[in-house]
Amino acid sequence: VSAASFPCKLAAAFLSLGVLSPLSCGKPLDRGAPDIEVRNVILVSIDTLRADHLGCYGYERNTSPFIDGLASRGAVFLNAFSSSSWTVPAHATMLTGLDPLVHGALRYPHAMQLPTAYSTLAEILSAQGFRTAAFTGGGYVSPAFGLTQGFEVFSTRGRHFEANLPDALQWVRSHRKERFFLFLHGYNVHKPYKPPPPYDTLFSDGYNGGYDTEDFQPDRPRPSAEDLRFVISQYDGEIRYVDDQLRYFFAQLEVTGALADTVVIVTSDHGDEFYEHGGVDHIHTLYDELLRVPLVVAGPGIRATRFNGQVGLIDLVPTVLGLVRVDHKEPVQGSDLSPFLLNGSDSLAHDVYSVTGFSDYPYELLSIRTPQWKLILWELEGMREAKLDERQPRELYTYKFRTDRWENFAELFLVSQDRAERQDLADTYGQVRSTLARRLAARIEQATELAKKAGEERAVPGPEEIGALKALGYL
Ligand SMILES: [Zn+2]
Repeated sequence: VSAASFPCKLAAAFLSLGVLSPLSCGKPLDRGAPDIEVRNVILVSIDTLRADHLGCYGYERNTSPFIDGLASRGAVFLNAFSSSSWTVPAHATMLTGLDPLVHGALRYPHAMQLPTAYSTLAEILSAQGFRTAAFTGGGYVSPAFGLTQGFEVFSTRGRHFEANLPDALQWVRSHRKERFFLFLHGYNVHKPYKPPPPYDTLFSDGYNGGYDTEDFQPDRPRPSAEDLRFVISQYDGEIRYVDDQLRYFFAQLEVTGALADTVVIVTSDHGDEFYEHGGVDHIHTLYDELLRVPLVVAGPGIRATRFNGQVGLIDLVPTVLGLVRVDHKEPVQGSDLSPFLLNGSDSLAHDVYSVTGFSDYPYELLSIRTPQWKLILWELEGMREAKLDERQPRELYTYKFRTDRWENFAELFLVSQDRAERQDLADTYGQVRSTLARRLAARIEQATELAKKAGEERAVPGPEEIGALKALGYL
């Protein structure tokens, strides 16, 4: 099977003719019946996809009819947040259930590898007899960063989903009779936004201003309001393109019968900025345009529900293990949402902790988000130490809790009312700021304990991976 099985023209035909109706992901089963067995898991990570640009999250454009169809039959977590605002730490959390402060795959652009000391979802399931495969867009989701652990197949034929989905389809066909865990990832929605026709004009409202989305970069002049609207139309066009690719892929899978006992999870590692807080891109802040990600779960036994409580990517590993009924003895920090998904029992909504780090900039950020408040701390001191030498022992990368210093660089938002994070209340609500900083400190202490497991284990990417990152526009 080649990439030619997923031509743009074909997808365009589906788009224009509307011949593909939302497919049924799994047979209709008794909702919440305790004896329903989820045999397989397909985890789809659409890199850089903001939750608020999907129809099932209230977006006004029809960017995601396929994902919306999944959402209407399954569970939509309306307030799901990433543990970081860039690719490696977020995916490492997605696949381990651990904070970036624990797994340590955090620094940009010289990312540390995910240590082998921690069990990935693929490793846990593989040990239980699952067949495991990942078809990814490469770049930061590649062997150099340790995300391959536990996958018997880890393949990258190109950055975009359409380059890898044919192989994924073939792989499922070959392993249909066995239990499997399939991880899919692609960079279509990542900058530069260049959707193929007809997706480039789908949402552009006849724009002909000539702005090149290649120029949508932090170091380029800010586009006019009209040009920015065009940029967003191209981002949205990419989303619709991926959505159609996934519709086609899952339609093919349904023919094999594989979906009847398979749970499908659609999510992302982080969002992207459109000048909400003065900048573009991701990585360098922890505002919600970067941290709020889609989380849709559908499949046999999964209740159709929309959940407002706050959850995180950190919950994916324990939730998947709960759904497939696999015990795991090692500690994970996330919560098992499967009782909620299957039976409607209370969901373990919780605070979400996030972090982003740099090698080249003089600061790093941590945040704690409760349903009501969000505190972002800009930490300077630890960065100066870590900047000394990338080859220093792991301890130098460990965050040091210094309340006195952090509180000088705090932002506090009442996110329950100020979802756009416009009004910084750090000076007005000093007590809240201190309370949240203490909770963040406790989390960091816990992370420091769990991080000891990896010891000195670490690695830096090699020359080929650096080349791949250049191709993605990172370096
Ligand atoms: Zn990413």
